[in-house]
Amino acid sequence: MDKNIKYCNSLTEFSRLKTVEVNIGNVKFGGDNPIRLQSMTTTDTMDTQQSVEQAIRMIDAGCELVRYTAPSKKEAENLKAIREMLNTKGYTTPLVADIHFTPNAAEVAALHIEKVRVNPGNYADKKRFEEIDYTDESYQVELDRIRERFTPLVLLCKQKGRAIRIGTNHGSLSDRITSRFGDSAIGMVESALEFIQICEDNEFYNLVISMKSSNPLIMVQAYRILASKMIEKGQCYPLHLGVTEAGEGEDGRIKSAVGIGALLEDGLGDTIRVSLTEAPEMEIPVARKLAERYLLRSTHDYIKPIDFVLPYNPFDHQKTNTNAVHNIGGKNHPIVISDLTHLTTIKPVHLFGAGYSYNATDDKWNIKEQAVDYVYTGENIIDFNLPGTLNVICDAKVWQNQPQTYPIFGDLDSYSFATKKSDKLNFICVDASDLDAIAKFDKTVVLVIYSSNFHRMAEKRRFFIELMQKNVKTPIVIFNEYTGIDDESFQLFSSTDFGALLIDGMSDGIWIKTENCSNLQLNTSTAFGILQATRTRISKTDYISCPSCGRTLFDLQETTAKIRAKTNHLKGLKIGIMGCIVNGPGEMADADYGYVGVGKGKINLYKERTVVKKNIAEKEAVDELVNLIKEYGDWVDLKN
Ligand code: SF4
Repeated sequence: MDKNIKYCNSLTEFSRLKTVEVNIGNVKFGGDNPIRLQSMTTTDTMDTQQSVEQAIRMIDAGCELVRYTAPSKKEAENLKAIREMLNTKGYTTPLVADIHFTPNAAEVAALHIEKVRVNPGNYADKKRFEEIDYTDESYQVELDRIRERFTPLVLLCKQKGRAIRIGTNHGSLSDRITSRFGDSAIGMVESALEFIQICEDNEFYNLVISMKSSNPLIMVQAYRILASKMIEKGQCYPLHLGVTEAGEGEDGRIKSAVGIGALLEDGLGDTIRVSLTEAPEMEIPVARKLAERYLLRSTHDYIKPIDFVLPYNPFDHQKTNTNAVHNIGGKNHPIVISDLTHLTTIKPVHLFGAGYSYNATDDKWNIKEQAVDYVYTGENIIDFNLPGTLNVICDAKVWQNQPQTYPIFGDLDSYSFATKKSDKLNFICVDASDLDAIAKFDKTVVLVIYSSNFHRMAEKRRFFIELMQKNVKTPIVIFNEYTGIDDESFQLFSSTDFGALLIDGMSDGIWIKTENCSNLQLNTSTAFGILQATRTRISKTDYISCPSCGRTLFDLQETTAKIRAKTNHLKGLKIGIMGCIVNGPGEMADADYGYVGVGKGKINLYKERTVVKKNIAEKEAVDELVNLIKEYGDWVDLKN
């Protein structure tokens, strides 16, 4: 993929990509319409009462499109009753049927409700994780077969005024697509383009497109590639943004904000679904916070423009090449800096929130997996013995070459004229708007970049681009400050601001400062969560848990909590927790171990993509999962 292809309006001046306006029932999506918020029910679609009640809770929370699973014709048929009951209660919000494997259910659903979501990976194709050698002819035969299966739905939707979402999922790409394009972002896009082409050949344009993955890096790349193809063609369909199987709580919010936020920052996205393993109405406030951040974004201050002739590839993650200075930059993973300037005196106990606990009896430090690398103390000097893995940054005017301590200079001039400097490591603060500040720095310098621009991610990215264009390899730490917002907003906004840069390989470290919000512990877990979500530094177990839907065969929230309680010390391991066998194995395709509902009270356990224990009773399944991890040698005992 040519890195110089335009995938949004501008990298420096915020505006939303103009898409075709699509009617979904009485709500318009895309065009100049606001970013729409949507979610999916978790009830059994055959349970009309429960399905209606849950939809009402979602709509009352602000949901503008409600999705139901329709695994077979009978559920698709019951959408009629659900639609009617909602209408009777005065709720005309459009409904969507979620279809996998069952074209006939899609055609029934289109008779009753406003939109049908199809997954190109399994609408007419199969996934058995097989590599098949296609000739051009045999590939075309498969495409013709898909056209034959999909066209009746397209014509029906056209006749009835319905909309279709072509919803590609990374985890359920067909064997046909992966055989030709690999298990890749480009494969996701090609898979959707085939379906778009069939719609266009039938002059049907009431389309919304999505490119979801549980890996925010792949997800962002896929949406960018898709947007670039649509821009090139001059026909942009509305984009439905989402990170699949994001999980619950903090992890789910961070992962979602990294992926969805990175795209929104570039003006991509017309509707959002945040997939959390929580009640669906809980997803709406999160989606709203993400979307509302961009209402006034176009009023931001000027950022020096750049063409899409880039020194990095926005379609393929690669870390920016920087020099190593001490333990920052080069091949080091990004560092985390905690800000302790709110303290007047710093004592060992204050480092607890930064991942260090001091045991006075043994005179030893316990260091957690998520322990920060540096603390910034301003004019304070730490006067106790530090843990070996921790360094201190203090203001240059109080720096006296204390052990493990390095100075920070407020600007370039104060560094240039300073008489006292470290011969190992010096931090210099630079405003990201000051592109003229970029020069060749000496081998001890790490820049800390900040921005007061309303579009601060873009201003910092502009700075990185200038550095690369000038071939300056000085390591960069990104600084962001958050004031007076609630904890959830803090996590969502910081995940977006840092995540969008980390996805493009930019940054050798992150420094979060908060005032009247959050706390040191939350700042630390958020910083490590962002690095984990961008796969730039792994410090904990990764859970790929589905949001649950009408197909779910066990209590996902409760089971996820049980699995997490037993395994959350297994740093670097990816565990998939999936509600059903229909989509679960595909969606958790890159997990190391999988826990998948296969029938009522029955679980299948996976080692990577292979089922290794079948039909385990649910009450024994979590322990069996632990045994399986032990059998394969990936278990470590929890340290006290
Ligand atoms: S994997 Fe989960 S969300 Fe997806 S269809 Fe199955 S139960 Fe529903």
